[in-house]
Parts: sequence; structure tokens; C-alpha cells
Amino acid sequence: MFVRREIARVVGAAVIAIVATQCSFGQLFGGPKKPKGPWMDKSLMTDERAELVVKAMTLDEKIQLVHGTGIPGFGPADPAAIRSNGGGGFVPGIERLGLPDLNMDDGSLGAGGGSHKGRYSTAMPSFIALASSWDTSLARDFGALVGRELADQGFNISLGGGANITREARNGRNFEYLGEDPILAGNLVAQWIQGVQSQGVIADIKHYAVNDQETGRYFANAVIDKRAMRETDLLAFEIGVKRGKPGMLMCSYNLINGDWGCENDYMLNQALKKEWGFRGWVVSDWFATHSTVKAALAGLDMEQPGSRYFGAELRKAVESGQVPIERLDEMVRRIVRTEFASGIFDNPQPTQAPDVMRGFKVAQRAAEESMVLLKNEKYQLPLSLAALRSIAVIGGHGDAGVLSGGGSAQVDAAGGNAVPDPKMKNDILAVFSQQVFHPSSPLNAIRETAPAVNVTYDPGTDPNAAAIAAKNVDVAIVFVLQHTHEGGDLETLSLPDGQDTLVERVAAANPHTIVVIESGDPVLMPWANNVNAIVEAWYPGIRGGEALAGLLFGRSNFSGKLAVTFPASDSDLPHAAIAVPPGRKPGPIDGLMSPKPPLPVMYDEGLKVGYKWFDAERKKPAYPFGFGLSYTSFTYSDLRATGGASVDVSFVVRNTGKRAGEEVAQVYLSLPASAGEPPKRLIGWEKVGLQPGESKTVTLKIDLLYLSVFDAASDRWTITPGEYKVMAGPSSATLPLTAAVSLKGSAGL
Ligand code: BGC
Repeated sequence: MFVRREIARVVGAAVIAIVATQCSFGQLFGGPKKPKGPWMDKSLMTDERAELVVKAMTLDEKIQLVHGTGIPGFGPADPAAIRSNGGGGFVPGIERLGLPDLNMDDGSLGAGGGSHKGRYSTAMPSFIALASSWDTSLARDFGALVGRELADQGFNISLGGGANITREARNGRNFEYLGEDPILAGNLVAQWIQGVQSQGVIADIKHYAVNDQETGRYFANAVIDKRAMRETDLLAFEIGVKRGKPGMLMCSYNLINGDWGCENDYMLNQALKKEWGFRGWVVSDWFATHSTVKAALAGLDMEQPGSRYFGAELRKAVESGQVPIERLDEMVRRIVRTEFASGIFDNPQPTQAPDVMRGFKVAQRAAEESMVLLKNEKYQLPLSLAALRSIAVIGGHGDAGVLSGGGSAQVDAAGGNAVPDPKMKNDILAVFSQQVFHPSSPLNAIRETAPAVNVTYDPGTDPNAAAIAAKNVDVAIVFVLQHTHEGGDLETLSLPDGQDTLVERVAAANPHTIVVIESGDPVLMPWANNVNAIVEAWYPGIRGGEALAGLLFGRSNFSGKLAVTFPASDSDLPHAAIAVPPGRKPGPIDGLMSPKPPLPVMYDEGLKVGYKWFDAERKKPAYPFGFGLSYTSFTYSDLRATGGASVDVSFVVRNTGKRAGEEVAQVYLSLPASAGEPPKRLIGWEKVGLQPGESKTVTLKIDLLYLSVFDAASDRWTITPGEYKVMAGPSSATLPLTAAVSLKGSAGL
């Protein structure tokens, strides 16, 4: 009896374990039965196959596909959730139809959150770093790496990439986004999406839209006029959607002009689906669904993570006719069509151990290409192996690793946090706000690069001790940190924790001081005049330390340029302070499950985002958009620009220095005064690799969209007739070449 009971217990446990590890009985005993439906015919068009599946589905099956299965701790979980691969979102597939489980994971910067299951994924540099590389081919490789590792871990959908522009420089999530210019951000996210999707994984673009601060994010109401919205925040999404063709788009938490992002007819039905031709599905940000009928009719196709509005309630609404069955069919059609188009239906990717070495390579290239050399006086850099005897590395946990941004985009640190955070608690906000360091120690990398140099380390916690450490060495390298994360914003761009004093003291003790900044937002640098060199390293990922050492010693050359303006003070920003609910400070977020009165966030700067604000207001930034130094020098010449119906530009860039280098050559446009635009906008760029003495002609055909203004009355992009000025050069503030062109104008693209 006991033996029988024991056997039953063991078998029972084994069955549970099997189910829990996602094996169905079908898979165990010879694989699932292949469905016989006509949609299995791969020779049919994607749309036809999707139509055939939708026709074969029951109402329950349709409803099952348009919501998630919940997350522990937030309401009852669906029993089907047991099959989930453990990512942020899950939709069980329908075996009888061959529809796969949809396993979603936060994967902008690498497959997130799997370390408790023993999973490893490459921690890439942050998106703001990617943007600072200005390199579209890198963006594609970055996306392909993330896509591959998501697939390796059994995920078939990424949550991300983020394409919100840096409208508010203190936003805690700017590190997840691609800078302040919509054309730069849109093109980079498009390539990233293509990269992810090249690996048979569905990519997402998020958070649509005007979701530009974290404070009050569950009830913030972005107030912005239509033209400004279309030409700034939405333009990044328009380019990302049209060029990247993501399979999924995530609508945002906030309200936009009084209507929630996930039930906003203009945003979802009109702009995204009708005008831009988006063919994928719209998923809500987590708990950002606020209604059944309104959301369904406004264009939301899937609720995540649970089923409060799109489960039984949606079924009732369909049965009563409040939501026509045709609309539910459209939601489902969008989902299954994307499953066919992406390959996740016909060719599910195998799970496997990630190729760690390949990840290192892509991560290091991304870090090298994205770090920005902001200052380099008296040829402080590159450091000379022959001349140096001693270096003091100071502060920023530079001995242990490099910082990363926090929140859902967090990629777990290999081997655990390199600098365990004593504040670590188990509630979600503490998890988001804890500082996580990847084990890529700049100190070790510097020592390996310079084995004959005496390299010491001082933690920088006592500025006087740090000054003593700095005094008698050849060079002092100070690391400073600004941690940002989902669920919080910065009150100021000033460095926290007395780090300005640390830099001042070290700089006073050693005239050869180099500052390395790890940040997700711009920082204020009151000490900039007192140090010889400044490097913005962003959150540089798993090979950040190695990339930095290579750049400091000149084994590689700097080529990154700022994708955000660094202001001289907080008060130079469009808003001196971030919008907060009455009596509160910026962040932390609250109000997820309990509605609060909307927090108005007035984007009255309108079109003037980033450098456009600084140009229009004639404010001098500390470091302008597009700026970044190199160890070599470049000249610009021979600008030719033609007008008429569109704009073609060509010019020559020459490497006039002694080292090979890459230059991000930029083209800006001033529109005729009658267009009512800020002084100039970026319309094109190319990252050009040049040997010493070499020159290349850059030729750009400018997309008509980049020349246009949005006419809110007709809801169309138009080209203003008149005289335009084309400018080319190394940054938004230095444009040595100019040419006049005239454009005929057109009343709608
Ligand atoms: C974040 C999204 C993320 C989702 C799932 C939300 O709180 O805003 O960016 O993809 O959670 O983790």
C-alpha cells in the first residue's frame, strides 16, 4: 500500500514537473498532433492563412487570445499560466489550431529577469548609448543579438524597444530610449526591430506615446497640441513602425489630452493603424487597460498582463453587440497574422545556451561606438603606455563593475550584482530602484591594458582620502554615477551623493584628472573647467569596462556623439522642475490599482524638444546635441544640395588627423519662416569610417517626411513652399557647410 502510494506520489510529482516545464503529453509521446486545417498550407498568403484560422475559432478561443494570464500577486491567475516561460507576459496558445504559446520577455537591452532560473543573457549597453553611436547597422546587430538570446531562452516576443523621445531630461527611463530627436530615434529603433525579427522573434515598439516621465505615470495626462505631438514623440513611432514593421506595439500608461493611451481612437485607430498601416497588434502596457468597450473600439487588441477587461467582460460585450464580433475578429486576425508573418507559427526557434562570446563581441562594439568624449584638453587622452607610471582609479565602484539602469529593462548581472545593494528589498519598486552593476570592472580592464603601470583604487567615499590617492600619481580617473530607473525620475541633473565635491577635490590634487560618467540622463558638470578629460560612458553593459579601457588607451577611437543635449543647468530645460502631484517630489510611482485624479503634464514647449528648445530660446548648452570628440580630426567641404520636389545632399568628409576614425557627419535643415518651426532639425547623417588622409563623399536622399510639417487641420504632412537652408557638420552647434535650396511644396504626403 505504502509502496503504491509512494509510486503514485512520485509519478504525480513527475507529471506536475513535466507540465510545469511546458511539455504537453502530446510532446512527450511523439509530439503534438499537427492540426489539419487549411491554414497549415505554407504556400498560402499570410493574410489568407490568418483568415482561415479566425474562421475556425470558437468565441472562447478568440477571447483567450486577446489577454494575458495574470501575474502572481495581482489578482487570480489563470491555470494556463503554469505553461508560461516566466517572462513578463503570457498568452496560452491553442493546440488544436497549432497556435503557439506567446511568451513575452522584457528584452530591449537583453533578455531580462531570468537569473533565478539560471539563465544568462548578454547585458547590452542602454538604448541611450545605442543612440549615441548613431549607427544603424549596429542597431540592427544589437537587435539581432537580443532576438537570438530571447529565442535561446524560449521567448518568442520582446517587450521593447522603447522609442519615446527625451522630452524631459530627468525622466528615469530615458536610458531605455533613443535620445531627443525623433528622426534619429525612429530610424534606430526601426533597425533594432528588424534585427530582433530577423531571429524569428516578434519585436515590440513602446510606450506609445508621450510617456515622457515616470512621476505619476499611471495617471499623468500629457497635454500637447496635435502638431507638436505628431512632429516629435509620434514621429519617432511613425518612422519606427513604417520602417521597422514591428509585430506588436505597446500603448502607454498615461492619458494623452484627456484620453488614456490604450483607449485613444486617434492614436490607435487613426494614426497608427489607418494612416501608418500598422499590421501587428496593440498590447496594453501592464495594467494600462481601463475599459472594455471603449478600449476595444479605440483599437486596443490585447490586454496584459491579465483579463480584467478583455476576458469575460469582452465576451459579454461581444455577445451583447457592444463590441461587434468583426472587431474581435480583427484583434485576433492581427495576432495570428503576425504569428504567420514572423515565423513563430511555422518555425519555432529551438532553445539553447546563448553564444556568450558572440554577445561579448556585439556588446563591446556597442559600448565602444557609443561612449562620448566630451572634453580632451592638453592631449590628456589617449593615455600613453610608454609614458605612464601610475594611475589612481577613484570612485563609482570602478573596481567592481559598471552600473545599469533599473526596472523592467534590467538584465540580470552575470553571477549576481557585482556590488550588492544593501537597500535591496523584495517589493517591486525597491527591485527597480536598486543599483545593479555588471561585473565588467574598469579597474581590472585598465590593469590588463597597462600591466606595467601601477594602478591603485580608492572608493571615493572620502573626498580627502581620494585627493591624497590622486596627488602623487600621473593620472587620476574618477568614476561618477547617476542611477536612473523605471518608477522614478531625477529631481535634478546634478550628480548625487557629493560626487561633485569628489571630482573637485581630485581635480585640485591632480592636474591630469579624467572623469568618466555612467548615467542614463544628461548630468550637470560644475567642475568641467577643472578637469582635462570627460567621457560619457552611459550604462555600458557587460563589456563596458573593457570598452572603456580600450578607448582610454587609444586601442580604439571615440566615435559616439550625444543623442541628448547636456544643459548647463536644470533651469535651462523647458521646465525648471518635473511635473509632480500636489505636495510630492518626483517619483516614486503609485496609483497602479487605485485611480487618482489626472496629473496634468503640460508640454507647452511643443515642437521645441531638446536642441530645438536650446536653439529657439538661444540658450547655450554645456554640450550640444550631436557633439563628441575623436582622437583624429575631420574637415567638411563641397556641400551640394538640390531642391525642387525633394532634397538630395552630398558633401565630403576628410580625416585630417593621424589616426583612423569614424565621424558621425550630420545634416540639418532650416525651414522657411512661414513654416513656424524651431530654427533647425536633423534630417540625415552618416557614420563614415576614414583612414588618416582619406576622404569620402557622403550622399543622402532625404525622406520627404523629414522635410514636412504636420498640418493639424487637414491631419496631413505638408511641405511648405519656399527657401530652405541645408547645413552639414560635426554637431548641431558646428555646421560649417550651408547651402540654400528651394522647395515647391506639397499639400499632403
Ligand atoms: C513597463 C513595460 C514593461 C512591462 C512588462 C511595465 O511596467 O512599463 O515597459 O514591458 O511592465 O514588464
